[in-house]
Amino acid sequence: MSVTERFKTMEKGFGLVQALAEAERCLLCHDAPCSKGCPAETDPATFIRKLRMRNVKGAIRTVKTNNALGGACGVLCPTARLCEKECSATGIVRPIAIGKIQRFLVEHSWEIGFEPLAAKPARAEKVAVIGSGPAGLSCAAELAKEGFPVTMFEERAEPGGVIRYGVPAYRFDAAFLKNEMAIFERLGVTFVCNTRIDGASGAKKLLADGFAAVFLGPGLWAAERLPGAEKVKGVRTSVEFLAALRGKQVAGLAKEFEGKTVAVIGGGSVAMDCVESALKLGAKDAYLVYRRSFAQMPAEEDERVAALRLGVHFLVLNQPVKYLADGKGKLKGLKLVRTRLGKPDASGRRKPEPIKGSEWVLDVTAAVEAIGNKADAADWSAMVKVDEAGLVVVNGKTRKTSARKIFAGGDIVRGPALVVEAVQDGKLAARAIRAALGQEVKV
Ligand SMILES: Cc1cc2nc3c(=O)[nH]c(=O)nc-3n(C[C@H](O)[C@H](O)[C@H](O)COP(=O)(O)OP(=O)(O)OC[C@H]3O[C@@H](n4cnc5c(N)ncnc54)[C@H](O)[C@@H]3O)c2cc1C
Ligand code: SF4
Repeated sequence: MSVTERFKTMEKGFGLVQALAEAERCLLCHDAPCSKGCPAETDPATFIRKLRMRNVKGAIRTVKTNNALGGACGVLCPTARLCEKECSATGIVRPIAIGKIQRFLVEHSWEIGFEPLAAKPARAEKVAVIGSGPAGLSCAAELAKEGFPVTMFEERAEPGGVIRYGVPAYRFDAAFLKNEMAIFERLGVTFVCNTRIDGASGAKKLLADGFAAVFLGPGLWAAERLPGAEKVKGVRTSVEFLAALRGKQVAGLAKEFEGKTVAVIGGGSVAMDCVESALKLGAKDAYLVYRRSFAQMPAEEDERVAALRLGVHFLVLNQPVKYLADGKGKLKGLKLVRTRLGKPDASGRRKPEPIKGSEWVLDVTAAVEAIGNKADAADWSAMVKVDEAGLVVVNGKTRKTSARKIFAGGDIVRGPALVVEAVQDGKLAARAIRAALGQEVKV
């Protein structure tokens, strides 16, 4: 397989026979713990029960009406700590593969051309959505179904947010995304891409231009950097690196990575995507550098285990000190210091403390920093209340901000979170917007 092909498509999901066999194992629990475990109320107990009864279209309807991004969630949700964690079958053999069943239902709906979502007759009140990631898309779908004309403003060339420009295609590919996005056009959502709404002034202008409400879903796109990183050639942020892989730059990156030693800095899921991608690009050795312990890594356990199996070298309890460059400013090494775990910090996690005199150099020619993202320079604070990290503060039930007619959700509210959580924020905000615009709806 060529290096470009390695980044093109994701693994196939369940077919009908596998999905039915899996649904057969479901215990049809009356109290449906799996449904309580879904942050977006996708209701797995109901769609699995319908599938088991051979009501395939009904099952598809349940997924899609509850979650406009049911396909993305079926593929990307860390189900082991959500619905599948709650599944009663866990104690007997293993949990029902809820995510895979959900993905099957959505893919099957495309195959048979069955689309249960439709827009009600058009209403007058227009709504603007800033940012077309999962939070914005979910909000847009809920409103468009009710007949509200929705315009989505997106800074980048194409809609999708992280699921288009972040998650590597071997986990979520372009063909799947295209199918998932088709519903938004069918519901009449207008996309205005290559258009950045610049913070509070931009949002205020949308209201002045006649939008009855605004939903903010810009996510977090400004990468945290280590000191001096900008000056060294060969050091990238995870945002740049992953976006380049989703663009047409795989072959170019492969030339840089093939046969080389590469470091990825960070311990979260994004770092895992980066380090696995580095190996797929042909890196001889890919090191994951993390200043805390293996057990403290925020990445999911299955992701960590998968990375170990792929041959990633885990350099835990090692903290970057500085990048070393050659005479032309090109990366030639990463100076590290070993750490030991000290006393717990405010969050209860034991803090890594550098061990004096334990500095050493890892020879690398490329590095990717995956040490967190923050809100970018578009400053919403002149309009809505934000916390000290720049995250927008909202009402927990309605996702309403401190400003009239402005709602928000997704990573800009929660910090780095999950697709399914962004979907739920979009749903809750849409419900509150509908209520604010005079529809009778339980908020
Ligand atoms: C590499 C990576 C892998 C991930 N993998 C998973 C996973 O496997 N499973 C999972 O559940 N979650 C995963 N996540 C997290 C998940 O993708 C996010 O929680 C989710 O995308 C947040 O959705 P959002 O709509 O808030 O923001 P985003 O997806 O970030 O979308 C925000 C959109 O707003 C646009 N925008 C920003 N500012 C402006 C502006 N001023 N004007 C106009 N447009 C603007 C951006 O271009 C972007 O398109 C991953 C995250 C990353 C970074
Ligand atoms: S908890 Fe598991 S066994 Fe029970 S209804 Fe949900 S999927 Fe079926």
